[in-house]
Amino acid sequence: MDRRLSFKKYIVFLILLFISSFCFADDIELSQALSRLSAKLSWDPLMQTGLLITDLHHISFGIGYNTQSSPFIIDNRYVLYLPSPRYTDSRLVFPSETIEGLEKALLSLLSKSQALYRIAAIVIDPGHGGKDSGAVAEHLIEKKKVTLQEKNITLSVGKQVYELLKTQFPEKRILMTRTGDTYPTLEDRVSIANAIPLGEHEAILFISIHTNASFNKTARGYEVWYLSPEYRRTLVDSKKFQESTEVLPIINAMLEEEFTTESILLAQSILSQLDVSLGDKLPSRGIKAEEWFVVRNAKMPSVLVELGFITNYQDAILMNDSAYLQKFSNALYKGIVDFVNNFEKTGGFTTAP
Ligand SMILES: [Zn+2]
Repeated sequence: MDRRLSFKKYIVFLILLFISSFCFADDIELSQALSRLSAKLSWDPLMQTGLLITDLHHISFGIGYNTQSSPFIIDNRYVLYLPSPRYTDSRLVFPSETIEGLEKALLSLLSKSQALYRIAAIVIDPGHGGKDSGAVAEHLIEKKKVTLQEKNITLSVGKQVYELLKTQFPEKRILMTRTGDTYPTLEDRVSIANAIPLGEHEAILFISIHTNASFNKTARGYEVWYLSPEYRRTLVDSKKFQESTEVLPIINAMLEEEFTTESILLAQSILSQLDVSLGDKLPSRGIKAEEWFVVRNAKMPSVLVELGFITNYQDAILMNDSAYLQKFSNALYKGIVDFVNNFEKTGGFTTAP
């Protein structure tokens, strides 16, 4: 009797052991996985994709890929292939191999954190030039007929921003798309920026300077534009990446997302400095998204600043005044410096506002 009972117990034990090794031994519950990675999870049930967010890094992944070798993308930059998480009894579980792999990766990133991302180059693009005057308007200022041309205002501000940045960042490459009354095409301007050789941890900023114009002469104020996320750019050169074609669109979308996020942060930074310097004289029209051509192909965080409306009398008075052009320049400069400092302090890891 006793022996039979213990034999039964033994069989039950073996069965349980078999089941648990088959189903659970290699799985880590979501809550445990999160605590091991010190991460929070943002889960998109529709797309079946998740974002693990730690203090310093973010890891995106999906379900539905190859379960044995699924891409985990860290900080939009590093791709790791690990077994995919899956549903067990409608709970999300992670294979232990995956959590171990992610722990190792985060640890090695920690040791690499000295190699922080930096802005290697800043390209200042004074809008228009040469045969292309940009917006032109005539005003009577202090009883004198004054013709304002966008190309001159943008060049004056561009040169000042350039000089200030050169002094502030002697170790960075500060470039202008034009330094005189010349007309580089829009493609020329972008290719100047795209041709800058970059190290692995380096990025470029592209700042295009313009003045606004409107048939409505009361329209006035400054605004900063960034590239609309709707515009699908091919930011990843497929030849450079050996990743599978399955992963390429993901990395591409993420890089695009990152450039957009950084462009928004750069736009905010510039706008808040314009508020400080000129907010008492000019209304802020805020940040806008547009697929404007100038930066459409710029593979970098890019913004376009509209200083004011050349067609508005009050705005024109300011833009005709060298003291105010200096204020515009200072505001742009400070906005760029704030962004650069923040970008480099956080190792290029920026989060959406
Ligand atoms: Zn323009």
